[in-house]
Amino acid sequence: MEKSEQKLISTVESLAPEILDFTSRMVACASTLGKEAPVLEVMENELSLLGFDPVRVEISPEDLADHPGFAPVPWDYEGRHNLIATRPADAAGGKSALFNGHLDVVSPEPLSRWERDPFDPIEQDGWLYGRGAGDMKAGVAAMTYALHAVNKAGMGLRAPVTIEAVIEEECSGNGALACRNAGIDAEAVLIPEPFGPTILTSQVGVAWFKVLLSGVPVHVLETQSGVNAIEKCYPLFLALRRLEEELNRTIHPAFIGLKHPVNLNIGVIKGGDWPSTVPAAAEFHCRIGFFPGVSFESIRQQVTNCIERAAAEDEWLALNPPSLDFYGFRSEGHSVDANQDAFRTLNDCQMSLTGRPAEEFVSTATTDLRAFVHFGNGQATCFGPIAEKIHADNERVDISSVIHTAKAYALFLARWCSMID
Ligand SMILES: [Zn+2]
Repeated sequence: MEKSEQKLISTVESLAPEILDFTSRMVACASTLGKEAPVLEVMENELSLLGFDPVRVEISPEDLADHPGFAPVPWDYEGRHNLIATRPADAAGGKSALFNGHLDVVSPEPLSRWERDPFDPIEQDGWLYGRGAGDMKAGVAAMTYALHAVNKAGMGLRAPVTIEAVIEEECSGNGALACRNAGIDAEAVLIPEPFGPTILTSQVGVAWFKVLLSGVPVHVLETQSGVNAIEKCYPLFLALRRLEEELNRTIHPAFIGLKHPVNLNIGVIKGGDWPSTVPAAAEFHCRIGFFPGVSFESIRQQVTNCIERAAAEDEWLALNPPSLDFYGFRSEGHSVDANQDAFRTLNDCQMSLTGRPAEEFVSTATTDLRAFVHFGNGQATCFGPIAEKIHADNERVDISSVIHTAKAYALFLARWCSMID
């Protein structure tokens, strides 16, 4: 490492308490779907305090309606937005960068499994606990302070850098898409998802859908004359599981070696309201993965055919077909070459900091990379902290890995954007 780079890295080290404090303040905001306002305020204030100039980016379903990546959702965007802040270049000659992170988190339920309040973050044995600590508020803090460290160390950059904090990474991808649609992009995009210090080259596509079924309500004393809408879900579950197996039969080359890369999750089920009444309605919501190269339209057709065929084989469902609605995620997957300039630069940074290269990572989940890979011009990947139990109880992030992420991001800026000392 050059002397100026060493100075930058020690500046990041000196900012470790601030990074941790900022992460904790964000984790304390329970930013589940629709409740992101408080965390956005924390982010906005932090960016302002650090001397950046945050700008709100609205998510307008009207503006995005014709965008091929837009995911229709049943909720609205009133009072909900993304934030961006761009640090302008001090001179010409470098390549631009963008750091993207999401501020939304998934529900911490069931709370009974947590050893502590998920939104009262605590530090213990080198870990920070809390919902969103890993996925991905620590990453947002790391990327923000990596850019701040450049200023604090008194350095300049030969290209602009944008910090982008978005919502709806966990349900639609519409947050990052709205920023992309507003023209925000860069030659390199890094997302500190908590997959560790790795370089993501492939991720699956993801679609969400819900199925609504009706039955015939009767008192249990005449059960035989009713139709149980909940039980009518069974044949559909079995058919969807068969479709999942089919989708895993021909594995995309990038995913060879992974045990079961395409997954169906039956994530929500509702129905009935009384133990002694045959339920007249039921619904279930699913998430299904699909390989890169498969279009959303193709997976939608396959799911539709699967449900229709299963319904046709059931006496009741054949006459009372379930209704199918695709809402939320309709993100296509991608697989890119590991041999790209930005990835090589990032790998060199990891080498300089640890003496070891960054491993390549192939994800069986989606991320906001899709907004940049499919609809942007930059070389985009994920590289971030190490976390455990994301989307589960007692989520935690390894604090040293958060600081390491900030160092790697700062060093990346120094090399990619060409630092002026
Ligand atoms: Zn995430």
